[in-house]
Amino acid sequence: MTGTPEPFTADDYTARMRRAARAAGDAGLDGVLIAPGPDLVWLTGYRPPETERLTLLVLRPGEDPALVVPALEAPDAAKAAPMLALRDWTDGTDPYETAADLLGRADRTGRTGRSGGRFGVSDNAWAMHLLGLQNRLPDTAYVSLTEALPMLRAVKDAAELQRLAAAGAAADAAYEEIREVRFAGRRETEVAADLAGLLRQFGHSQVDFTIVASGPNGANPHHEAGDRVIERGDMVVLDFGGLKHGYGSDTSRTVHVGEPDAEERRVHDIVRAAQEEGVRAVRPGAACQDVDRAARAVITEAGYGEYFIHRTGHGIGVTTHEPPYMVEGEERPLVPGMCFSVEPGVYLPGRFGVRIEDIVTVTEDGGRRLNTSEREMAIVE
Ligand code: ZN
Ligand code: ZN
Ligand code: ZN
Repeated sequence: MTGTPEPFTADDYTARMRRAARAAGDAGLDGVLIAPGPDLVWLTGYRPPETERLTLLVLRPGEDPALVVPALEAPDAAKAAPMLALRDWTDGTDPYETAADLLGRADRTGRTGRSGGRFGVSDNAWAMHLLGLQNRLPDTAYVSLTEALPMLRAVKDAAELQRLAAAGAAADAAYEEIREVRFAGRRETEVAADLAGLLRQFGHSQVDFTIVASGPNGANPHHEAGDRVIERGDMVVLDFGGLKHGYGSDTSRTVHVGEPDAEERRVHDIVRAAQEEGVRAVRPGAACQDVDRAARAVITEAGYGEYFIHRTGHGIGVTTHEPPYMVEGEERPLVPGMCFSVEPGVYLPGRFGVRIEDIVTVTEDGGRRLNTSEREMAIVE
């Protein structure tokens, strides 16, 4: 997959907004309210600054989308998202009044009153904005968009899959190159900087994380990269990703500096087998939790169950963490077009960790990996 994909069109965005409004109606909501951030980018292509000035997309079933926007940003909004009706407000006026005007019509009693109704709100909306609305419309209820419409962005279309595949291929290319750099005697942060440079070199516009967790640091799944000097004999967890063409990559491989010992090899083999089983469990109609169970069973049977301390995976799209989650209790079915990570790990406190992660998409025939770089433990220098 090479070249820059065709940009999404106003028609693409209009179709997404219509789908979101319809899904809101189906979920019993009067609409959804979208703040600047990934939901707004996905729905409109508009990426305004996230500031104290209220910008809010209002989508309501059966109505045209409207964007509440600060007057000084209206020209940019009109250019980025020409299909939107703009409701601009100027400094010194009350933006919540402008928004309330759009929401107030939610009053199902038919009164021209300005209260009532229930709206989904994008998770990253600022509290001050939601509180402002709540204050203006005290009888209006709000629910997190992830709670109300968790699968809104979960099923990717062909154009999105193409971008995700390109991001995955770029991350794989970065991994192939990082295996050739020197690890022993260098700080984690230095290898992390190499990784970030490689992701950019292979077309990422944004690097979100470059975890380099060596030796005992690998036992902490949240360790990013620190001052520790990598030594010969270390296991090193590498987990890196970001955005290419607006879509995410996220992959992990665990390498060893020099020859591993028997237990390091064994734990790596177990995690690799668990990852394999997790991917094998991916098929339309299976529950998300089945993927977690399949991967976890391998680790538990090998006696390391208590050291696999996180869920097996998360969705990926215009963000690198989003629904669906491959976790016990998530019974929603897998649907062709969904994309998510399968990333089991084993973390031995004070010693080392192993994690192997691929992005997988659901096809009619089962799971297809978007990361195809070597999963065998690489020996680095
Ligand atoms: Zn070792
Ligand atoms: Zn990751
Ligand atoms: Zn991940």
